[in-house]
Amino acid sequence: MGIELYGRRRDGSEFPIEIMLSPLQSAEGILVTAAIRDITTRKKAEALLVQKVEELNRSNRELVESADAARVMTQQMNHSAQHDALTGLPNRLLLNDRVGQAIAFAKRHEHQVAVLFLDLDGFKHINDSLGHPIGDKLLQSLAKRLVDCVRAADTVSRQGGDEFVVLLPEILRLEDAATMSRRLLQAVAEAHSIEQHDLHITASIGVSIYPDDGRDAEALIKNADTAMYQAKENGRQSYQFFRPSMTIRAVDRQLIEEHLRRALERQEFALHYQPIINLRTGAVTGVEALIRWTHPTRGLVLPGQFIPVAEDCGLILPIGAWVLREACAQAQAWADAGLPRMTVAVNVSAMQLMHESFVADLFAILDETGLDPKYLGLELTESALMKNADLAASILSTLRETGVRVAVDDFGTGYSSLSYLRRFPLDALKIDQSFVQLITTHPNDTIIVRAIMSMGQSLNLRVIAEGVETQAQLDFLKAHQCDEAQGYYFGWPVPPQQLARLLEQHDPVQLAPAETA
Ligand code: C2E
Ligand code: CA
Ligand code: CA
Repeated sequence: MGIELYGRRRDGSEFPIEIMLSPLQSAEGILVTAAIRDITTRKKAEALLVQKVEELNRSNRELVESADAARVMTQQMNHSAQHDALTGLPNRLLLNDRVGQAIAFAKRHEHQVAVLFLDLDGFKHINDSLGHPIGDKLLQSLAKRLVDCVRAADTVSRQGGDEFVVLLPEILRLEDAATMSRRLLQAVAEAHSIEQHDLHITASIGVSIYPDDGRDAEALIKNADTAMYQAKENGRQSYQFFRPSMTIRAVDRQLIEEHLRRALERQEFALHYQPIINLRTGAVTGVEALIRWTHPTRGLVLPGQFIPVAEDCGLILPIGAWVLREACAQAQAWADAGLPRMTVAVNVSAMQLMHESFVADLFAILDETGLDPKYLGLELTESALMKNADLAASILSTLRETGVRVAVDDFGTGYSSLSYLRRFPLDALKIDQSFVQLITTHPNDTIIVRAIMSMGQSLNLRVIAEGVETQAQLDFLKAHQCDEAQGYYFGWPVPPQQLARLLEQHDPVQLAPAETA
């Protein structure tokens, strides 16, 4: 056994010593011998070791700490590489991943996956007119609403800009995707209160389904995007399932935008006019102006194919102004030529209506063309009115005072409620063609048509049925006191020269047979 002590040198300095005692058996009994050793060197070495171990511990601790930090950082980096900075939603990358996983899972379990591509209608306009900070807040508010709509297993992602993609990794029926689309559209459409603004915006959704519409993430997302464009063309705030025939049309879009820019100066637009008939008298009471575009190589392009594009790129403003001027000038020219007076109805897009100079421009056009405002009607869709209901109501009141009439177009397809419609000084409701079609295709569903007509009547509005093609439809509408009608049954939209001829040949008596019954 050893004892550690300190020895003292001659100069008085201390140094560590070790005394080793060892028992020794001898004839005289047990002897203890002591061996004394200077252990300065060993002590130094030990101290060094302790120091080294401490250092090692310290650096280990630092290492662990920095490893933790690195882990957090990579997590953050991963998170920001996979999430959108503005909304915090998964981004394109992460979505691709999740769609891939959902497909793999669905393959094993034989169920379907739905991808919903959602794009806002006219978001650019909000950004441009109210500024990007407000646009950003609107996107954040939208992101939150979308997330609130879906289940925990679903993914809401932002693709960039005003595009969102929702992944439903497991659906049992197509109707599940349709129901979710409707729910999302509704959630988007409710007013967003941002700073002092009550913002209204709508969206369009395209839906693709695994396995039918694509076997990998890329194909599914691309096809949902294509279907979304179709939804926009169908009149916005709607959803659309992908169909293979849509693919060709998506390619067209870019080209259409380029050509549209030149179409105005090249005078490639024209208006066709479709008669509107009073169902009590059989007389033509008005016409609707419908734009046509004669493209230099494609020939006739219908508005469904280019109006949504024009709305998206802002060209609807100059095009819409041209339509108004042309229609007013034509109506006045017919009056000057001695034709019976009738109203000319012009379709107006939401963006046009909300544009600050809309009313002033309209008055200038009426002035220039000399048309009495009471012969001009504007047709606005429900969603156009709802986009900014207060502003729309005040614009419409101003117009109403001058005698300009306003009709709600495509009535029944939007989300507006009667209490909302009461706020607008309206003149007429146009029942959407899809409901008129029900009269002959699904006679059991005519309760809807009747309900819409009675809504109009209860609001004290004229009810105009669109898309009347058959005698059976006409008979039904008359029997239910529909006021006016429009459709191929009475006449196709035609160029102005032909309309004059059509009016001359028009026989009101022939169109009002049910009156005598
Ligand atoms: P809309 O306002 O609902 O116009 C009625 C559409 O139904 C027209 O299509 C018309 O040609 C079509 N139609 C008329 N009668 C019948 C019928 O008996 N059966 C069927 N199946 N269809 C019928 P069009 O001309 O292709 O216009 C499509 C849409 O484009 C219009 O729908 C309107 O929303 C928009 N549009 C047309 N012209 C303009 C315009 O000058 N400005 C704006 N902003 N939009 C326009
Ligand atoms: Ca219309
Ligand atoms: Ca319509």
